[in-house]
Amino acid sequence: MSLTFFPPLQQINSEIVRHAGVDLYVLRLDLMHPWVNGNKWFKLKYNLLEAKEKNFTTLLTFGGAYSNHIYATAAAGNIFGFCTIGVIRGEQRLLLNPTLSFAVQQGMQLVYLNRETYRQRNTPALQEYLQQRFGKVFIIPEGGSNLNGVRGCTEIVGNAMPTAGYAYAFDHICVACGTATTLAGITLSLDQRQKAIAFSVLKNGAFLAQEIESVLTNYLASGFPSPYTSPASWELVCDYHFGGYAKVNDELLLFSQQFREEHGVPLDYVYTAKMFYGVMDLLKQGFFRRGDSLLLVHTGGLQGNVGIEERWRKRSPTAIAP
Ligand SMILES: *Cc1c(COP(=O)(O)O)cnc(C)c1O
Repeated sequence: MSLTFFPPLQQINSEIVRHAGVDLYVLRLDLMHPWVNGNKWFKLKYNLLEAKEKNFTTLLTFGGAYSNHIYATAAAGNIFGFCTIGVIRGEQRLLLNPTLSFAVQQGMQLVYLNRETYRQRNTPALQEYLQQRFGKVFIIPEGGSNLNGVRGCTEIVGNAMPTAGYAYAFDHICVACGTATTLAGITLSLDQRQKAIAFSVLKNGAFLAQEIESVLTNYLASGFPSPYTSPASWELVCDYHFGGYAKVNDELLLFSQQFREEHGVPLDYVYTAKMFYGVMDLLKQGFFRRGDSLLLVHTGGLQGNVGIEERWRKRSPTAIAP
């Protein structure tokens, strides 16, 4: 299987960027492949390789009804010749939403667990039950967030180099943060002069600091390969969650719309729009130094916008929904 795609790097010139005196680039993981893209691809890569090496033919994983990970796993399974089972949180709906109907088109079998049972997804008891029910399956945790996932994410920023055409070390690498897996992988791939900045998309995201520490510690203790043996510095920014996971407001929708119009970069509302908004706001506040170079990692997730725009239009029909 060929598992390498090269994401393009795009420079952003805008009034805010010029005024702050920084160089700003976007690493477009959203453009690597029409379906298998974003950080979810990097989190899957070594899981697929391990499954293949151990002769598994079926992947089983978990996610919500709008999950980018479910979407990517269904597509990757189809492309690389695995059967896939998606264990979906919540009750089955009569009509499949666009995410789940794509997954089914890719050949994924869907199974629904009520929220209480779903919460047990990482326990041996539930995993045993799933193995009993579906036979020999390779289980990937929700979001692809395991050590294989971290390992894949150590390759995200390195991939920016061949496309940039020169060994350009960015000072700050900015990324949206949900479970910290992606941030951890990125942090392990930076040298000590660089810094990773995580933008929490969760309300009360301060707990993510411990999460980042523990993912880094576990990864380094695991013996999995790491570009560096100690993580570069990182910082957690918690001010741009917009009310919490998958919450949006008019300001965020308007920002995303304007950003796409001005720069041709579509953003997803759950993750990248919040991070980009945060970076622009920090630039206005003078958070970065003149002369700094910034790399914003576009982690994909655009497939989820359809569902959010639908819900938003229902709630406020007069809103400027794109
Ligand atoms: C899952 C996801 C993230 C968050 O990644 P974590 O490793 O969970 O922190 C960021 N952006 C997008 C688009 C995602 O789908």
